[in-house]
Amino acid sequence: MLFAGPWLGGAGAKCHLGPQLLMENTATADTFFTRRLAAKGQPLIIAGPCSAESEEQVLTVARALQAAGQADMYRAGIWKPRTKPGGFEGMGTAALPWLQAARAETGLPMAIEVATPKHVEEALKHGIDVLWIGARTTVNPFAVQELADALAGTGVPVMVKNPVNPDLALWAGALERLERAGITDLAAIHRGFSTFAPSRYRNAPTWAIPIELKTRYPQLPLINDPSHIGGARDLLLPIAQKALDLDYDGIIIETHPDPDHALSDAAQQVTPARLQELLSELKYRYRSSDNVDYRNKAEELRQKMDTADHEILEMLARRMALIQELAEYKKENNVKILQLERWQEIFKTRPEWGRKLNIDEKFVGELYKLIHIESIRQQTEVLNGRPIDGPVNLGPGL
Ligand code: PEP
Ligand code: MN
Repeated sequence: MLFAGPWLGGAGAKCHLGPQLLMENTATADTFFTRRLAAKGQPLIIAGPCSAESEEQVLTVARALQAAGQADMYRAGIWKPRTKPGGFEGMGTAALPWLQAARAETGLPMAIEVATPKHVEEALKHGIDVLWIGARTTVNPFAVQELADALAGTGVPVMVKNPVNPDLALWAGALERLERAGITDLAAIHRGFSTFAPSRYRNAPTWAIPIELKTRYPQLPLINDPSHIGGARDLLLPIAQKALDLDYDGIIIETHPDPDHALSDAAQQVTPARLQELLSELKYRYRSSDNVDYRNKAEELRQKMDTADHEILEMLARRMALIQELAEYKKENNVKILQLERWQEIFKTRPEWGRKLNIDEKFVGELYKLIHIESIRQQTEVLNGRPIDGPVNLGPGL
């Protein structure tokens, strides 16, 4: 396990894996998404407006995308989940024929968000190719189960956005519910997580969570949504680039003919022309390289890192042994575990020491929070003779 946190459903939590795509180490998955990926040999591009607003708008974007030849799928919101009532809530069923028309003219597969069994029924009646479950629905297992029941037997491909809260178990749980209902053409969309803390992102990416999803389910295509993570046009490129560098299987970007006047998510949408520029600015890097020099050098550096990791762990073991010794001594002298001043001093000095060694101060701070928690756990065990807490298990914000 790469990271331990509540989003994993708790350290050591068992994940009940489904029969195929979600199974770890499945040799190859053959699905709607993996077939397209294999045929393209590059990440999939999904584009289209946040919301379908008019037939003309839907068609204008679809024609521009088709002409540019880069999009693999068209997205549009028909029913819009809004945090507060009174805003634009989507054109609803009336918009479905516009998507049918766009599909007929451009051949682009159409994808929309569904949140209720009724939405599923309407979408399928209108020949929508791919459905997605939005972030506000993924959080609710009741809603996801109702959708899974409605989708059973339809064979329609489904993309599942991460839940609004940083909880990997809910995300994986939603995928699993669908798979148990026999929906095996699945993909995940990473659209970021709401946070209370001020952030330059609309939704914090918290990359550790999708990386953990990918680690658990290597066969499951993972798509990045820079529009909803960034919430702003200037963030699309850096977020999309990072996603490509993290080996994502696709990106979904909101595209509107007149973004400033969009009825939803105006600040993050770009014109189809800007999308093309953006895509051409992305650097597509290789998964690996056959170049012998590259391979030799990478192997040499990795071996050095293995050695360095052994040394780090030996040092940690030394520190843990000192913790144990101190705990015994505290016990003998009936002294409390938490010595606040000592820890305050550690949190102040260690990042400074790190900085002098060119190590990011924030990283060092986080590392010492982990060490502190482990130290308290070990001392508790020595003083009270029984472990209360399990291994270190931190929240995303620590
Ligand atoms: C959307 O894609 O338009 C949308 C509503 O996204 P999310 O569910 O990620 O908020
Ligand atoms: Mn949107």
